[in-house]
Amino acid sequence: MKLPPFEYACPAELSEAVALLAAHNGEAKLIAGGQSLVPMLAFRLAAPALLVDLRKLPELRKIEISGNGVVLGSMVRWCDILADARLHAAQPLLTAAVGHVAHYQIRNRGTIGGSIAHADPAAEMPGIVLTCEAEIATVGTAGPRVIKAADFFLGPLMTVLEPDEIIVDIRFPAWPAQRRWGFQEFARRRGDFAMAAAAVFYDVDGAGKAHNAHIGAIGVGDRPVRLTAAEAEVNGKVVDVTVSEHTGVAASAAVDPQGDIHASGAYRKSLIGTMVERALLSAGAMKVA
Ligand SMILES: Cc1cc2nc3c(=O)[nH]c(=O)nc-3n(C[C@H](O)[C@H](O)[C@H](O)COP(=O)(O)OP(=O)(O)OC[C@H]3O[C@@H](n4cnc5c(N)ncnc54)[C@H](O)[C@@H]3O)c2cc1C
Repeated sequence: MKLPPFEYACPAELSEAVALLAAHNGEAKLIAGGQSLVPMLAFRLAAPALLVDLRKLPELRKIEISGNGVVLGSMVRWCDILADARLHAAQPLLTAAVGHVAHYQIRNRGTIGGSIAHADPAAEMPGIVLTCEAEIATVGTAGPRVIKAADFFLGPLMTVLEPDEIIVDIRFPAWPAQRRWGFQEFARRRGDFAMAAAAVFYDVDGAGKAHNAHIGAIGVGDRPVRLTAAEAEVNGKVVDVTVSEHTGVAASAAVDPQGDIHASGAYRKSLIGTMVERALLSAGAMKVA
């Protein structure tokens, strides 16, 4: 389908992009990779008067890795993440999840900032930023702000972003070298959105017991969720087959997903338990060097 008509701007300054959004009073939209927005335009689910293209803003493409963690500019694409060997070591859960995002062509254009702003409940990255307790740095006419991932998502395709606010970068806390982690996803075909996915990590003390467990669930609610009851099953224990199984049961019990054309709510509820259990089993074997 042809796109609806719109004006187009491609500013060379971030401040100009903010000013354009503000001047259009909610009638302008940013375009990053266009992999979610262009289909929305084609289906007439969005009809902005102006598209503001972010591609000429190199400061949005930075990848910074330091002892404090990783900072990814909002225009960093999925293919940039997958191609950067340093990121696989610095944030292995992040890169494992990106491996499940869409297909080759889409990964060449789609960006991390676009995915987070789009806030699809079945998308991998909102779940990863939530699980990793990342922060989202933005700028708007009210100035810069830093938003915790836990406060960012409001529902399907809904976030706390103001109409004149731009995601500048996403900040992931440092990842200890010995951390155990796992990512498991079930989709109809590889590259499709998740029917359900689990992102898991925990640290291990000298006695081999887990602490600081983080378990995030994707595709089983109107936004990604941390499963604190399941995390409590892991903390203080040696994570073995039995603990993994019990944690999967707790994960299932903690969610109440809706059914849709892809799967019933009951199927998704069961599936997330299996994903969490498998993620924990793989975490035990995947000790990051
Ligand atoms: C066939 C297909 C399969 C896909 N499969 C998956 C999948 O399995 N998993 C998955 O996660 N995604 C999937 N996607 C979506 C893809 O990952 C998108 O690239 C991504 O969701 C959005 O990124 P984008 O850069 O293309 O954003 P755009 O489409 O350009 O923008 C999306 C939204 O974010 C806003 N936006 C963009 N950048 C910013 C910013 N810096 N600050 C504030 N707002 C901003 C835009 O205004 C728009 O509302 C798929 C897409 C397609 C077409």
